[in-house]
Amino acid sequence: MPSIAFLGLGIMGSRMAARLLGAGFSLRVWNRSKGPAETLRAQGAFAAGTPAEAAQGANVVITMLGDPASVKDVAVGAGGVVETLHPNQVYVDMTTVDPGTARGIDCACRRRGVAFVEAPVTGSKIAAAKGELVLMVGGPADVIRTLDPVFRPLAKRVVHMGAVGSGSTMKLANNVAIAGSMLALFEALTLGRRAGLADERMIEVLGHSALASTLLTLKARAVAARDFEPHFAFKHMAKDIRLAVAEATGHGVRLALTELLNSLFAAGLERDYDDEDFAALIKVVEEAADGAVVGDQGTTRHARAES
Ligand code: NAP
Repeated sequence: MPSIAFLGLGIMGSRMAARLLGAGFSLRVWNRSKGPAETLRAQGAFAAGTPAEAAQGANVVITMLGDPASVKDVAVGAGGVVETLHPNQVYVDMTTVDPGTARGIDCACRRRGVAFVEAPVTGSKIAAAKGELVLMVGGPADVIRTLDPVFRPLAKRVVHMGAVGSGSTMKLANNVAIAGSMLALFEALTLGRRAGLADERMIEVLGHSALASTLLTLKARAVAARDFEPHFAFKHMAKDIRLAVAEATGHGVRLALTELLNSLFAAGLERDYDDEDFAALIKVVEEAADGAVVGDQGTTRHARAES
């Protein structure tokens, strides 16, 4: 079995790394804060002190970090892992980033003769734990074929989108569709509630309508229970929508719903919903329903940090 280095053991990474360990891979893990690596060490993984130590001797190096800045830090920043890689190693980034970031990392890898594949995922922490993610993969087909045994324990579907950048583009498009659907759901629930309908009745109807989906039912139940424990953090969906707007702008495209989502998520960040589930969007929808002014995408600390 090839040896795998897995860097980034957050909500998704910890579960994905555990799947690889369970599939019998020799696993080397690293996380910025110590706790998550210790848990995997107790299950048989080697817990490294630095990203470079984790990558040492691994056939495949995987990152599952937070955002473009964290991937740049760990991969190509000072002391980044890419400068320690050799041409017999493959680097796979599974973080949701923008296509430009993915292409930049691809360039840094090419300079060292290292193959790079982007493989962002859809499916949340339950799918990660069950190995039922969907991967949107960008990179050379021959390298992606060699990764099949690595992807198999993680995913129920692997779709090769094209060159590096195409997987990230698809991931941003996917999250525009998910966040847009959630906005519609939350407005529907808010309308019904304000008109006196019971949550349970609304969930029953929506769950059997033409729109029925696991996500819709899960999120409708979560917001009815005011349960915002994170499966997918608000700050990450806000980041994805911000990146989608920037990507659309780069293509000279205006996307009205995505720009509205961007304003609503920016308002949520201003209210510190960062580490709640992205279903906390309903709180912004409820405030907007009461006529509160929603945030301006250009003024949040997150947008400022990225500019
Ligand atoms: P998460 O729980 O917030 O984990 C983020 C990970 O990145 C943690 O291990 C964190 O380390 C690390 N990290 C953040 N900034 C760092 C930095 N500057 N240097 C080093 N490490 C850093 O996020 P997640 O839910 O696992 O999601 C990971 C990625 O997958 C994100 O891009 C997200 O958008 C995407 N995604 C998430 C889901 C989901 O449902 N959760 C679904 C699909 C895609 P610490 O532990 O030290 O903070």
